[in-house]
Amino acid sequence: MFVDKVRITVIGGRGGDGAVAFHREKYVAAGGPDGGDGGHGGSVVLRVSDHMTTLLDFRYKRKYAAQAGVNGMGRKMAGKRGENLIIEVPRGTVVRDAETGQVIIDMSTDEDFIIAKGGRGGWGNAHYATPTRQVPRFAKAGIKGQERDIILELKLLADVGLVGFPNVGKSTLLSVTSNARPKIANYHFTTLFPNLGVIYVDEGVSFVMADIPGIIEGAAEGAGLGHDFLRHIDRCRLLVHVVDVSGSEGRDPVEDFHAICEELHNYSIDLGDRPMIVAANKTDIMDPDSDNLERLRAAVEEAGCELYEISAGTTLGTKNLMRVVAEKLRTLPPVTIYEPEYVEVIEEAGDPNALEIEHMGNTWLITGTWLERLIMNINFDDYESRNYFDQQLRKCGLFARLEEMGIQDGDTVDIYDFVFEYQR
Ligand code: GDP
Ligand code: MG
Repeated sequence: MFVDKVRITVIGGRGGDGAVAFHREKYVAAGGPDGGDGGHGGSVVLRVSDHMTTLLDFRYKRKYAAQAGVNGMGRKMAGKRGENLIIEVPRGTVVRDAETGQVIIDMSTDEDFIIAKGGRGGWGNAHYATPTRQVPRFAKAGIKGQERDIILELKLLADVGLVGFPNVGKSTLLSVTSNARPKIANYHFTTLFPNLGVIYVDEGVSFVMADIPGIIEGAAEGAGLGHDFLRHIDRCRLLVHVVDVSGSEGRDPVEDFHAICEELHNYSIDLGDRPMIVAANKTDIMDPDSDNLERLRAAVEEAGCELYEISAGTTLGTKNLMRVVAEKLRTLPPVTIYEPEYVEVIEEAGDPNALEIEHMGNTWLITGTWLERLIMNINFDDYESRNYFDQQLRKCGLFARLEEMGIQDGDTVDIYDFVFEYQR
């Protein structure tokens, strides 16, 4: 079975909790705090695999969660970091946000992509010891990992897409020109999933051609099998439209030509306007008295395309056609790679009353859901990011509330591992 679209949930691992512990040793009266930090949660990472050709593996497993970080322990022992979960996807998988449909990433290059970040581990109490506060009895809980629903959609990476009615000889053409061995038979829909073949034209000159299941009339409205498969030629730079010019199936080649062009247009304007070359196939069994070829040539020229006569069955003219294709490709822009459209929504400042403030001596611990989400998106190594965080805190009125509660200059404010000294 060929599966090329799935919806899955990815969940980053939760961060481990920080520990509350105190040093104990014989003959040492009162040891200091030595609770270690929790480990960070693992992330879910997408990676391209060239061994995969479908999304079948995702059909029965829908949830992908990375490992949680281990809690911190005494003796300043930090918890182990959660392992990343690597998810392999076929090259050309476009990843979308399930809610908005926006493209998050196009997995077409070799770079890994973090799709769900693990949560930060909480700090242990060893982190909170200061000269004035030697016995901190608190530590921080780990933060939840990112969770999101995504859609994986396979869109093959091919330079050239073969289109045409069933049985016109698309698979035959691919098989005689490339290393691919698609199924060929004299009945409709033998091709049930796309085939890719690499065509070597000359030294250093090659391209990838895709054979997709035939398009039938009404396919763009979802009536036929072919519709779903059109997405696999979305990226193609050039279409080779194969027409059975012998009319061996009792159909008219000119009508076929127009029907397919219309289908492409119905699917998307973009695909309808894609550069196209027409291959008039099965010339070996053409009736010499028929005017099919001349009529087709006229229709093709009127559409602004070029026509090449071939016989995929006997390979006559196929080499030449591939040369023409390679030549044409040199003038066309590269295969489409989808630009990310998705912008991570950074949580806006919420209501300060929704924040919880714990007060222990001169340390103020602030927690709250929106704050947690805000923190998840802040990169504390980055000045701009830190600045944004600061702005959000001011905007939400947290400091005013702290003042009301009696915070003093020099007190410690602690917001999920982000610790600073309060100054009015
Ligand atoms: P597809 O459905 O477009 O992929 O068509 P296939 O490649 O599976 O071919 C359908 C049938 O047409 C098969 O029986 C092929 O052997 C036959 N065929 C393909 N090309 C030619 C050709 O150039 N000449 C002749 N005589 N038969 C062909
Ligand atoms: Mg076929």
